[in-house]
Amino acid sequence: MELKNKRVLVVGLGKSGVAAALFLESQGARVTVSDAKTEAQLATHIPALLDKGIAVETGRHGERTFRDQDLIVISPGVPLDTPQLQQARTLNVPIIGEVELASRFLRGPVIAITGSNGKTTTTSLVGEILVKSGRKAQVGGNIGTPVTEMIATSTADTWNVLEISSFQLETVETFRPRVACLLNITPDHLDRHGSLEAYAAAKARIFEFQTAGDLAVMNAEDKICSGLADRLRSQVYWFGQKERSGRGSFVRGARIYFRDDSGKETEVMPFEEIGLKGAHNLENVLAAVCVGVLAGCAPESIREAVRGFKAVEHRLEHVATIGGVAYYNDSKATNVDATIKALESFPANIHLILGGKDKGSDYTVLNPLLKQRVKKVYTIGAAAEKIESQVTGVPIESAKTLEQAVRMASEAAVSGDVVLLAPACASFDQFDSYEHRGRVFKQLVKSLAESVTTHG
Ligand code: ADP
Repeated sequence: MELKNKRVLVVGLGKSGVAAALFLESQGARVTVSDAKTEAQLATHIPALLDKGIAVETGRHGERTFRDQDLIVISPGVPLDTPQLQQARTLNVPIIGEVELASRFLRGPVIAITGSNGKTTTTSLVGEILVKSGRKAQVGGNIGTPVTEMIATSTADTWNVLEISSFQLETVETFRPRVACLLNITPDHLDRHGSLEAYAAAKARIFEFQTAGDLAVMNAEDKICSGLADRLRSQVYWFGQKERSGRGSFVRGARIYFRDDSGKETEVMPFEEIGLKGAHNLENVLAAVCVGVLAGCAPESIREAVRGFKAVEHRLEHVATIGGVAYYNDSKATNVDATIKALESFPANIHLILGGKDKGSDYTVLNPLLKQRVKKVYTIGAAAEKIESQVTGVPIESAKTLEQAVRMASEAAVSGDVVLLAPACASFDQFDSYEHRGRVFKQLVKSLAESVTTHG
């Protein structure tokens, strides 16, 4: 792909948009960036772009800006039906995403991981497995480093482990991972994708450009994954907790095994060595084991990597135990399914903090588990009213803010209970991000611990 002197527009000035703009400029393109946010909101990003002579449009998407381009690169946050993009499409201006752009320049094999939940955990773990196996590996994409920023450090023998979101997959055209992994598909982002079918179709694009020599890894216990298998050109391997006859990773007698193409089984590890909580994390480990074996890593190295792997921050992270009450930060539980998995990780006595920005979710599906395991629900944020109208069979209290919720829960909880932030919603009504929400929660818990030591 020749970029020299090409007029390229980058739409959306998030982390990946900035990285794309700087990469394009380094390749000699004439770059403009456009973001509907105000200059003040984007202030931290702009100087680095202006320094490189990149034109910056803020506060609007100008019609002319979109028309006069040889290529448009869009960030994952930008809806594809933005009118200016539709107009550019009618003028035949090619429109691709940042991942697609990067994949045309990235050197070395690509492992791509997508799914509704578990992406970051699994991607980070696969990175660790490769490193423990003595490979050159770098991790990025939807976490940490944007893929365009990984290009400069990639070499022919670098394994690029990429976390890929459904939004990023909407705009790929040739992206062809050597190993592509689909962890699960449960309702998420339906406000943007419209329907579960459209969302599943976006996720399945991770396999779209694979050929017969490539590998696909899917969840054996996920119905949508099973339905996809026949349509793929790549070789399908499965991961799952139940023992099966097919190839891939599975569990037998509290141990993880891998079965290859010829039916040969290899024991990888006992699962008591897994340092992560919950059945969902066992699934993530099974997926990472399968990907690791397919990438040629030895079972001993995989075992060592899994053994040393701790929860990623904000993913069912143990914060503190105060007076026998354990506090867990699962701020990354931004959809109902992740909250279900969090609840399933504790047998009973949970004080659950729910709420935030609603994503068109159905909270009634939580009811059976709430009834079984939860002592009380505390609602926060914009979704509170909807949650209160859908949750039944368990005491529920309106806390409005996270601060109040932590206070109320800590007052109600007794030794042996769990206070769990697994809000099933996005954070943007009251916080900048789920990380921000998680940090505030941890701070509140720390203050609680300090006041207990001072007064207790
Ligand atoms: P993602 O990057 O896909 O959001 P994370 O690893 O960051 O995934 O985990 C996000 C949330 O989903 C966390 O709250 C975590 O507890 C939960 N989770 C992790 N793995 C799974 C899984 N395999 N199935 C369902 N929920 C999961």
